[in-house]
Amino acid sequence: MSAIRPLIAAIALMLAALSLPLQAQRLPEESRVPGGIALIPLAGLAADKKPSAWYKSNRVMVISSQGTSLQDQAHWIAVAGIPLKANPKKKQHLRANATSYYFDIDGKEYKAQYLTVKNKRHVNPDPKDIARWRKEKAEMVAAFKHWSNPEEPVTRFELPAKGPFSSPFGLKRFFNKQPRNPHSGLDIAAPQGAPITAPAAGKVVAVGNYFFNGNTVILDHGNGLTTLYCHMSRIDVKMGDQLKTGDSIGAIGKTGRVTGPHLHWTVSLNNTRVNPLLFVEGK
Ligand SMILES: [Zn+2]
Repeated sequence: MSAIRPLIAAIALMLAALSLPLQAQRLPEESRVPGGIALIPLAGLAADKKPSAWYKSNRVMVISSQGTSLQDQAHWIAVAGIPLKANPKKKQHLRANATSYYFDIDGKEYKAQYLTVKNKRHVNPDPKDIARWRKEKAEMVAAFKHWSNPEEPVTRFELPAKGPFSSPFGLKRFFNKQPRNPHSGLDIAAPQGAPITAPAAGKVVAVGNYFFNGNTVILDHGNGLTTLYCHMSRIDVKMGDQLKTGDSIGAIGKTGRVTGPHLHWTVSLNNTRVNPLLFVEGK
């Protein structure tokens, strides 16, 4: 019995992989939890004009359902990022043109992480640091809110760096035992100087040296999908550059609030930080 079980599990996995529908290539993985993604078929809306959709006062990505498993349900699909602080007890409300769509989300318990940071100002910033951080945060939010309409919507990513995932998305964080915001991205550990590359086509919409994030770049992939790269030792791009998948963004470093060299990679959808791995195939 004990020898057969792993075999059955392996066969079941193989069958599941074989039956994966083609659209797995195109849609991000759905996960209706805080920090996840909801795919909402916009039933009842005309096919001839792309609707505009809104969720929690942010504009939401809308893509055609053609060729996906949802094509029988509606012509258009809203792809909405769900905030980490969304309340699972409440019905979620998405609006497309003048139509309301309601959906439920499940709760998700993220693990806690305790980090020790040597630079005390990175844990308890002084007023000057806080003023600097506020300005930088406004710059970043403006970049996250960037809206563009590329011909081919980006809904899938390659990984931007090679290395083990050293810290997952969503961790509740404590710096020197003090609670701070949850981890809004995925950390990929790699040696100082290792390459960071564009995970999909995108345009550079922010470049800066920030208090917490160090050397930072933000790419806009269109339809409210943006990505953030932090702690870099070197930046290879400038504002307005148009990148293709695999183009260099810069190099791994340890600038800003870090405990060692790594890439902090954030994925933002409708100005909402979501689990980057939902966009990555075969992770
Ligand atoms: Zn991080």
